[in-house]
Amino acid sequence: MLIYEGIAIKRVFKLMWPYFEPYKVLLVIAVAASIITASTNGALAIAVKYVLDSIFIAKNYTYLFILPFAVMLIYVAKSGFLFLQGFLMSFIGNKVIEKLRNETFEKMIHLPVKYYAEESTGALMSRVTNDINLVQSSIPTIINMLRAVLTMIGLIGVIIYMNWQLALVAIVLYPIFIYPLSIISKKLRKYSTRGQESMGILTSVLQESFSGVRVVKAFVAEDKEMERFEKANAQTIKYANKSVLAGNLASPLTEALGSVGIAAVLFIGGYQVINGTVTTGEFFAFLAALIQIYEPVKLFASSNNALQAAVAASDRVFAMFKESDEVIENKGTKQCMAENKDIEFKHVSFIYKDNIYALKNVSFKVRAGSTVAFVGPSGAGKTTMAHLIPRFYDVTEGQILIDNVDIRDYDLFSLRHNISIVSQDAFLFNDTISNNISYSKESAAEEEIKAAAKAAYADEFIEKFPEKYDTLCGERGVKLSGGQKQRITIARALLKNPAILILDEATSALDTESERVVQKALDNLMKGRTSFVVAHRLSTILNADMIVVFNKGGVEAIGKHEEIIETSPTYKKLYEMQFKTEE
Ligand code: ADP
Repeated sequence: MLIYEGIAIKRVFKLMWPYFEPYKVLLVIAVAASIITASTNGALAIAVKYVLDSIFIAKNYTYLFILPFAVMLIYVAKSGFLFLQGFLMSFIGNKVIEKLRNETFEKMIHLPVKYYAEESTGALMSRVTNDINLVQSSIPTIINMLRAVLTMIGLIGVIIYMNWQLALVAIVLYPIFIYPLSIISKKLRKYSTRGQESMGILTSVLQESFSGVRVVKAFVAEDKEMERFEKANAQTIKYANKSVLAGNLASPLTEALGSVGIAAVLFIGGYQVINGTVTTGEFFAFLAALIQIYEPVKLFASSNNALQAAVAASDRVFAMFKESDEVIENKGTKQCMAENKDIEFKHVSFIYKDNIYALKNVSFKVRAGSTVAFVGPSGAGKTTMAHLIPRFYDVTEGQILIDNVDIRDYDLFSLRHNISIVSQDAFLFNDTISNNISYSKESAAEEEIKAAAKAAYADEFIEKFPEKYDTLCGERGVKLSGGQKQRITIARALLKNPAILILDEATSALDTESERVVQKALDNLMKGRTSFVVAHRLSTILNADMIVVFNKGGVEAIGKHEEIIETSPTYKKLYEMQFKTEE
C-alpha cells in the first residue's frame, strides 16, 4: 500500500509542481509549520509526565510555576502554526486553481470540434470545475500526509522513550484495530464512488426532464419520468445509507477494539507502576501519546483518499492537455485574403470513425461568387461537406483548395476570417443584441452594426424594444422568435463580410412567414459571395448556379436543375417529394 501511495505522490507531484513552484518559499514555511505542529503533540505528551511526577506526586513548586506556562506555550505554538499551515496551503491552492482553470479553459476552447463531438458537455464542464478543485488539493494533501507521518513518528518516539516494553505491546496490538478500519474505509470509498455515479444519473434525469419538459408533457410521460427519477433516487439513497452504515461503524468499532489495547496497556502498565519499574507520570505520558496516535492515522487515511481523487482528476485534466489543439495541428502560414474565392474539392473523402466513409471521393469546382446548393437525403453528407470548408474537421483523403492553395496551408484563423456560417440553430450569447451582432467584429462602429441589422431585416424589430440595441438576449434576456434570432445571426455574419458563406438549413426551423423575411435577409447576405447552401427550399435550388446532389457520401450529380432532373434519380425523387409541392 505504501509503495502504491509513493507512486501516486510522485506522479501527482511531478505534474503539479510547476504550478506550485512560484510559491516555493511559502511552501517551505508551510512545511516548517507542519513540522513544528507535529512536534507539539509529542511535547504535550512529555509534559504529562512532568505534570504528574513533579507537580502531583513530588509536589514541586518550581515545576508548578513553569509547567502550566510551558503547556500554554506549546498549545499557543500548536494553534499558531496549524493556522499558518492551513492558511498558506489554502491560499496557494486557490492561486493554483486560478491559473490551472485559465489554462484548462484556454486549452479546451482551442481543441478541435471533433473533441467536442466525442465528450459530453457535462463531462467537459466538470473538468474545469470539479477536477481542478480536486487537483489543487494534491500538494496540500501531500503536506498533510507529511504532517501525519511526522506526528506519528514523534508520538511513537515518545511511547518508546517512556516505556519500550509497553510500546512493543501497543505496536503488536495496533494492527488488530487498524485492519477493520482499513476494510471499512475501502468500502466507504466504493460506496462513495457508486453514490456519485448514481447522483450523476439523477442529475441527468433532472436535466433531461426539465429541458425536454414539453416532450414529456406532450407524450403524457410524467409517470415514466417519475419512475426513472425514483429509480435513480433510490439508488443514490441506497449507497448513501451504505456509506452512512460504514462511516458510523468506523468510530465505535475502533473504540471497541481499541479498548482491548487500552485494557492490555492498563494491566501491564498498572503492574509496572505498582512494582515501581515506571513512574505514574511516565505511564500517563505514554497513554497520552498512544491515544493521540489515532488522530494522525485518521488524517493519513483521509489524506490518502483525497490523494487518490487528486490522482484520478489530474489524469483526466492532463490527458486533455496532451490532446493536440487546433493551433498545433494547423501548421499553415499563408494568409487567406478577403477576395472572391475559387474553391475546388479534389477527391475528398472523410471518415468520422470506424472506417465508415461519410464522404467518398467527392470532386467538383466552384467559381468565385457563385451559389452552390447541396441537396440529398438526410445523412448523405451535406453538413459534413460544409464543415470541412472552415476545417471543423480535416479531410481524411484528398484536398480542398481555395484559390489553388490547400486549405491546410492557410493560417487557420485567417481562413476562418473569410467564412461565415449561418445554421439552423441560431445561437445567441447571453449579451446585448449589439454585442451579439458585433461578435464577429469587435471594432464595429454603431452605424455599422445598425447597417448590418438593417440588411438582415432585424433593425425594425430591434428598434421596437425599449432598450433597442442594448436589449439583452439569450437565456436571461427577451424572448426572441426563431426568425428574429436567425436575423440577428445573419446580421452578425454580414458584419464579418466574409468571402465564403455557408448556410446550413438556415431557414428549415422557421414557419413560412418568418422564413420569407429570413430568406430576404439571406439573399442580401449572399450577394457577391461564394455560398454553399444546404438547401431544402425549391427557390434556393432553382436560383443556385450549381446543384450538387449527395447520396450515401458520394456525389450523384452536378449541374443546374434542368440538367440533372432527368439524370439523377435521387434528385428527381427529392424534387417530386419535397420541392414540387412548393411550386
Ligand atoms: P446530412 O447533412 O446530409 O444530413 P451529415 O453530413 O450530417 O448528413 O452526415 C453524414 C454521415 O455522417 C451520417 O451517416 C451521419 O450519421 C455521420 N455523422 C455525422 N456527424 C457525425 C459525428 N460527429 N460522428 C460520427 N458520425 C457522424
